[in-house]
Amino acid sequence: MVDPRTLAPKLPALKLLIGGRQVDPLEGGTLPVTNPATGQKLCDAPAASAQDIDLAVKAARKAFEGGAWRTMSPKQRGRAIRKLAELIWERREELALIESLNNGKTFREAVRGDVGPASATIAYFAEWADKILGEVLPVAGPFHTYALREPLGVVGAIVPWNYPSCLAAWKLGPALAAGCTVVLKPSELTPLSALKLAELALESGLPEGVLNVVPGYGEPAGEALARHPDVDKISFTGSTRTARRLLRASAETNLKKLTLELGGKSPQIILPDADFEEASKACFWGIFSNKGEVCNAGSRVLVHEKAYDSFVGQLAERAQKMVVGDPLDPRTEMGAQVSDGQLRTILGYILSGKEQGARVLAGGVRDTEGAKAKGCFVKPTVFSEVKPQMRIAQEEIFGPVLACLRFSDEEEAVRIANGTPYGLASAVWTHDTAKGHAIARKLKSGVVWINCFGEFDDAAPFGGYKESGWGKDLSHHALDGYLQVKAVWTKLPE
Ligand code: NAD
Repeated sequence: MVDPRTLAPKLPALKLLIGGRQVDPLEGGTLPVTNPATGQKLCDAPAASAQDIDLAVKAARKAFEGGAWRTMSPKQRGRAIRKLAELIWERREELALIESLNNGKTFREAVRGDVGPASATIAYFAEWADKILGEVLPVAGPFHTYALREPLGVVGAIVPWNYPSCLAAWKLGPALAAGCTVVLKPSELTPLSALKLAELALESGLPEGVLNVVPGYGEPAGEALARHPDVDKISFTGSTRTARRLLRASAETNLKKLTLELGGKSPQIILPDADFEEASKACFWGIFSNKGEVCNAGSRVLVHEKAYDSFVGQLAERAQKMVVGDPLDPRTEMGAQVSDGQLRTILGYILSGKEQGARVLAGGVRDTEGAKAKGCFVKPTVFSEVKPQMRIAQEEIFGPVLACLRFSDEEEAVRIANGTPYGLASAVWTHDTAKGHAIARKLKSGVVWINCFGEFDDAAPFGGYKESGWGKDLSHHALDGYLQVKAVWTKLPE
């Protein structure tokens, strides 16, 4: 992999993309974009107003109802989507560099965990474009009756800041493959990769209005998209708090459909017969990769009492040695938290853990060593003796903070694992695979990993149970979320 310190960052055009044109926001709004590793301002990105959102929705509607997108054959549509995936792959280092500068994640994580997968996901869905099948229905009577699967229409994609490229792709891939058009609103904290994506969409030759990119604040831009009467669906990744607002907006306007990919408090259960070495690696990277700003972060580790002290002790030892610092330095293992606000949230949770009686085995403070004093760095933190009702065991922290809990039997482990409002992902570690499957059935989460953690594939659905959300990203299940089914009846001569 190239050393990113030898690359010069190429910022994208600081314009909205609406109807195939790069334009300034009507009210001249801006978003200050900062490098969280240094505190230095990178640029002012454009901030869309409600009026800009309206124009973007109109452009998406026009592209959906007529023009080249509508008349393209499914195969041609697939080719156009594939071209976008190829361009992302060709420019992955350029994209990853701005992602790393904007988000604070290491360049390695930006390439391998964010931009690379974004390209792969769009390429995967490009292949689905000409494989969307209908059905002939076995109805009673003299009828020829079939079900058509049709695109939903205009999709508002609202995404967060932790995997800006990848999560945009999780929405764009299936929406475009289904034949929908999209208005993409990235997070106000990380608009740069979406603006770069807008440039690549222009270069790819996607027909105008098929993809519109409008960075902006949750309010007014996100809210205007969520309340727009001509948006058919909002595909959202973000917090449970914002999801509740989206539900309200849908209920109060046009009952637009919603896919909601929300937060998590994912447990990893370590049974006494687990492969401790593998489990330990998975628990370490499960919480500290992408600086813990991961929806499915393994933020709770539940260890059987027989193994607890040595397992947790080793994790803490490894955490103390973790290399935290410059995201562009290839030796760095963990970069900067995304913003001052997120840094404060994380430190607030660490304080609550201490106040509620959990024991800090590693970290537990901000990292202000040397140049890090100017950035948003936290020492990788391991808490021991955590009780299930403590805030650090119940609430999503979204930072490098691990809560380690003790259990004495499997029943208790499952009870603790299921004992939060979330249900995004979980893991079980055991040599007894049958037992692993039995526990997987009892876990209330949308993904269960047995003897592995954080595995993803475009072919496997991802999405939560309980307050972790509705609907799925990835796989053909995601595609279904952008299609609606129409039954067509024809009377046959008797
Ligand atoms: P957030 O909900 O604050 O923001 C997400 C997006 O929603 C941003 O683009 C924001 O501008 C927009 N938004 C905010 N208020 C809005 C409103 N009133 N109307 C419309 N849009 C609005 O979340 P965040 O802090 O950016 O991201 C972190 C959250 O995302 C965490 O809870 C994390 O677990 C979750 N997440 C989930 C997944 C998943 O796949 N399940 C993946 C990544 C992140």
